[in-house]
Amino acid sequence: MHFIDVIIPIPLQKLFTYSITSAEAEFLKVGMRVAVPFGKSKIYTGIVYNIHTNGPTAYEAKEIQQILDETPIVNEKQLQLWQWISSYYMCTLGDVMRAALPSAFILESETVISKNKVEAFDESILKDDEFLVYEALHHQSSLKIHDVSNILDKKNVLPVIKRLIEKEAISVEEEVYEKYKPKLVRYVKLHANFSSENALQNLLEELSRAPKQRKVVMTLFMISARNKKPVKVKDLAEESAASTSIIKSLIDKGILEEYHIQTDRVEYSGEETEASKRLNAYQKTALDQINDTFKTHQVTLLHGVTSSGKTEVYVKLIEDVIKTGKQVLYLLPEIALTTQLVTRLQNYFGEQVAVFHSKYSVHERVEVWNNVLHNSAKAKIVLGARSSIFLPFSDLGLIIVDEEHEQSFKQFDPAPRYHARDTSVVLANLHKAKTLLGSATPSLESYFNAKQNKYGFVEITQRYNNVLMPDIELVDIKDKQKKKRMKGHFSDRLIEEIAETLKEEHQIILFQNRRGFSPIVECKTCGHSPQCPNCDVSLTYHQYRNQLRCHYCSYNAAMMQNCEACGSQDLDNKGFGTEQIEEEVKLLFPDYNVARMDLDTTRGKYGYEKIITALEQQEIDILVGTQMLTKGLDFRNVKLVGIMNADSMLNFPDFRAHERSFQLMQQVSGRAGRTEERGKVLIQTYNPYHNILQQVSTNNYIDMFNEQMNDRYNFKYPPIYKQIKITLKHKDYNRVETASIWFAKSLRQVFKEHVLGPESPPIARIRNQFHKNILVKIPKQQSLAKTKEAIIKINNSFLSIKDFRSVRVILNVDNF
Ligand code: ADP
Ligand code: ZN
Ligand code: ZN
Repeated sequence: MHFIDVIIPIPLQKLFTYSITSAEAEFLKVGMRVAVPFGKSKIYTGIVYNIHTNGPTAYEAKEIQQILDETPIVNEKQLQLWQWISSYYMCTLGDVMRAALPSAFILESETVISKNKVEAFDESILKDDEFLVYEALHHQSSLKIHDVSNILDKKNVLPVIKRLIEKEAISVEEEVYEKYKPKLVRYVKLHANFSSENALQNLLEELSRAPKQRKVVMTLFMISARNKKPVKVKDLAEESAASTSIIKSLIDKGILEEYHIQTDRVEYSGEETEASKRLNAYQKTALDQINDTFKTHQVTLLHGVTSSGKTEVYVKLIEDVIKTGKQVLYLLPEIALTTQLVTRLQNYFGEQVAVFHSKYSVHERVEVWNNVLHNSAKAKIVLGARSSIFLPFSDLGLIIVDEEHEQSFKQFDPAPRYHARDTSVVLANLHKAKTLLGSATPSLESYFNAKQNKYGFVEITQRYNNVLMPDIELVDIKDKQKKKRMKGHFSDRLIEEIAETLKEEHQIILFQNRRGFSPIVECKTCGHSPQCPNCDVSLTYHQYRNQLRCHYCSYNAAMMQNCEACGSQDLDNKGFGTEQIEEEVKLLFPDYNVARMDLDTTRGKYGYEKIITALEQQEIDILVGTQMLTKGLDFRNVKLVGIMNADSMLNFPDFRAHERSFQLMQQVSGRAGRTEERGKVLIQTYNPYHNILQQVSTNNYIDMFNEQMNDRYNFKYPPIYKQIKITLKHKDYNRVETASIWFAKSLRQVFKEHVLGPESPPIARIRNQFHKNILVKIPKQQSLAKTKEAIIKINNSFLSIKDFRSVRVILNVDNF
């Protein structure tokens, strides 16, 4: 008897076991997909995790329905990583599978095949098994895969179906077994009959009466001689100025032969156009030190100030690794923002760069996946956001995590709630590869790890070209308001600096932490502000659509004329967002081009690119934007950065608010004066004596680190303590309250004073679900594995209580 354990893309605690025949056991390999029956009638795509001979004891193993692959699409190292993620982040392998595989690989619906309606189809070209299927389609209009299995009395019927499709006997329905469709490009060549001199001579003579056709044949020759590559129909048509019907008639006559080649959708024609740059002395030292630390450390942190040329150092490391034939993963916080980097790397490495884009289609994802799986020359260097840690690397040599402090490396919802930086360290270890973390403003936990000598540590303290760090000035807006020196949200200092910068024909970036026009509308008469009906938040006013929107559930409504509560028309805008800043700056500087970059203006595949290009081409004088502006962009001509209001970030209710504010402000400031001239940064605030602002303005990372670490010690926060957040959700407030009290009490019996809560979060209701949070703090000396075991046990007892069964429990490890 043979069995396989299968991962199914649903949150099941255990793997499911299916029985297979010995022939199947012979054929199947770990990492292949199989279609398996589940429940009453469901069919799922599963991944073979394990092949063995021990049947399950608790249930009778069902048979698999079919085998979907000829070779594994997931390798063993990936499965080890999945296993680690599932146990570290307390989720199921099914959760990981769903996040890891391109959705095109997961087929749930039934495949249906039907006969092509071709008159006079030549049945003699069909082999016996093909004919059986074809004939069955005379009697019924369509067949399911499993009918085909029955007809042929075997499970692996896909090859037969594939052949039938190739012979154009049948076609399969849209939602069928493979959502991925390769892109085929049409090529032509001269038919083999004319390969001899003689035959060719005759042909050309014959064609002298058909000059257009003759021209096509001649052009085909020219192109082939020139490129020595297959010739696309499209190129031939263009160059010979022939219509496609002329080419078609040549094909019909058997003079030309048509064929198709499968082509990747994302193709870079890019040749390597540039040699990598010569490093300056600081970069060179850093590179040597990194290589040194790699001798003793798996992970090294590179702390290099903004514009110190970290990227060029990465490039040298990448060169060395790909010379050995190994793969490199280059992780970035938000791939859509990295057009600049993609271009830079392509200039150095040409086609070897593959990008795994969050806005890619399912087809494009499959292509990158396959290229990585086969360690293809086209995917030696993979550039991607957090989900690219799931790609099927077979031989990684190096992982670079750029901007390692960025929060977007952590996935919050849905499970797996993994942190891509931390996961990449595990991934690298599986490949015996190294990890380099890079940042101008490292996260406290990475800097702490470096200080503890757990990570290697390397610094670059000088900007490239010795450009000075920007001059940062704090503007006290409380004082300015008192002295009536504010116009809207602009202080006189900011207005002066903007005017000056524009006069010198430099560009300006204005940073505002929020999108939208003004987050809250408030009635001046009664104080009411419109609320989202599904969430406990006030709605945000978006001027552009004249709408009120909820940023949590995307509820929206037209902006009202009168207060809903008292009918007054006196409505006020409280707070301010990017839209309002844009509006005000346009009024202040009407002769200049102002643009805005935030979630609302960057939708669509090329949303960011358009704005970034416009800024690079200096079509924009002033760019207003949110945090998107902070991520590693390199603009030569930006000289002034204005931070409109530092206080909202600082006052955010989160233990990392201060660290984050420091990082954000330093990163935005880093966009100013990156080439020759020193940049200027103005930070407007009600509280210029705040320690963080002092540390930002003096570029004092170490002070910030020490002070924040002190707080973390005192209040038992990461990286001193680990933490797991447990969130309970239910539409009935009383139920979630009782449930969370029960949960917290059980936790307290084990973890004593290290349990906080239950607490309602600042936004207690989202999408009509009430939330309660419980936090478990875990001291360094306490076993993390044991802690998780205890939590899982409590969770299992919790789920066995009837009243609580409908409460959703979310476990979030390292929830920060
Ligand atoms: P970081 O990533 O540290 O912010 P970058 O790698 O973007 O810095 O470098 C900042 C600027 O300096 C870029 O425009 C880059 O092209 C330039 N630069 C960095 N190193 C070199 C070098 N060795 N030679 C020439 N230009 C360099
Ligand atoms: Zn009112
Ligand atoms: Zn809402």
